[in-house]
Amino acid sequence: EHAIYFRNVGKIYQTGTKALEQFTLPVGKGEFVSFLGPSGCGKSTALKMAAGLAEQTEGDIMVFGQTPQAILKASNDIGFVFQEANLLPWRRVLENVMLPLELRGGSKKEIKKEAIRVLEMVGLKDYLTAYPRQLSGGMRMRVSIARALAAKPKLLLMDEPFAALDELTRQTLQRELLEIWQREHMTVLFVTHNVYEAVFLSSEIAVMSSRPGRLSSVIDIDLPYP
Ligand code: ADP
Ligand code: ADP
Repeated sequence: EHAIYFRNVGKIYQTGTKALEQFTLPVGKGEFVSFLGPSGCGKSTALKMAAGLAEQTEGDIMVFGQTPQAILKASNDIGFVFQEANLLPWRRVLENVMLPLELRGGSKKEIKKEAIRVLEMVGLKDYLTAYPRQLSGGMRMRVSIARALAAKPKLLLMDEPFAALDELTRQTLQRELLEIWQREHMTVLFVTHNVYEAVFLSSEIAVMSSRPGRLSSVIDIDLPYP
C-alpha cells in the first residue's frame, strides 16, 4: 500500500507553462522522499498537488487512497511547510504551534510543553506571545517548521524548509526531523535543491529534469543507521 501515488501526472498552468509531464512516482508508507532538481523543474508544483492546493491537468494523485482534496478537507494528518508559512494571523506564535496538537486532543500542559520545546529549537523562545505579522518572513517559516515537527503528522510535505536558515539551526532541525521520521514512521516529501541535504535525509531521491518537468530517476539511499 502506498502513502502517495502520482500516476502520469501532468500540470499546465493557466499561463501556459508546462510544469510537469508524465510524472509517475509511487511513495511507500514511511519513506522519506526528496525531490531534487533545478529551479523551475516542478518540485513545488508536485508538492502543492499532493497537498490538494493545486490540481493536476492530467493523470491522478492518490494520498492514502483518496484524492488530495478529500484528505485536505477530512483530516489534520497532513502537515505542510511551504514558502508561504500559512500561519493563523489572529493566533499568537505559541497558539499556532499548539493548534494541531489540540485538535488531536490530550493534556494541555503536555501540548504546551512540546510546543515550547520545538519553538526553542527553532530559536523563537522569545516570541511565544508574538503575532505572526510581528515576525519576519524567515521567522514565520521557522514557526511553520516548529508546528509541523510538533504535530508529527502521518504525512509531512516540506518545500525547502531549511533553505533560509543559518547553518547551526539547519543542522539541528535536520537531525530533529530525521529522529521524528524514524520514531513516528511518518511519510515525508521534501523539496530541496541541495544534494547533500537530500542524501543526508532521504530514503529515496526523486531526481527531476528541468525540461519538461519530468522525473529522471529515483535513487534508493542505503541508510547508514539501522
Ligand atoms: P520548482 O519548485 O522546481 O522551482 P515550480 O513547481 O515552482 O518549480 O515551477 C515549475 C514551473 O511552473 C516554473 O516554470 C514556474 O515558473 C511555473 N509556475 C509555478 N507556479 C506557477 C503558477 N502559479 N502559475 C504559473 N506558472 C507557475
Ligand atoms: P520556488 O521557490 O518553489 O521555486 P517560486 O519562487 O518559483 O517557487 O514561486 C513562488 C510563488 O510564485 C509560488 O507560489 C508559485 O506558485 C508562484 N509562481 C511561480 N512562477 C510563477 C509564474 N510564472 N506565474 C505565476 N505564479 C508563479
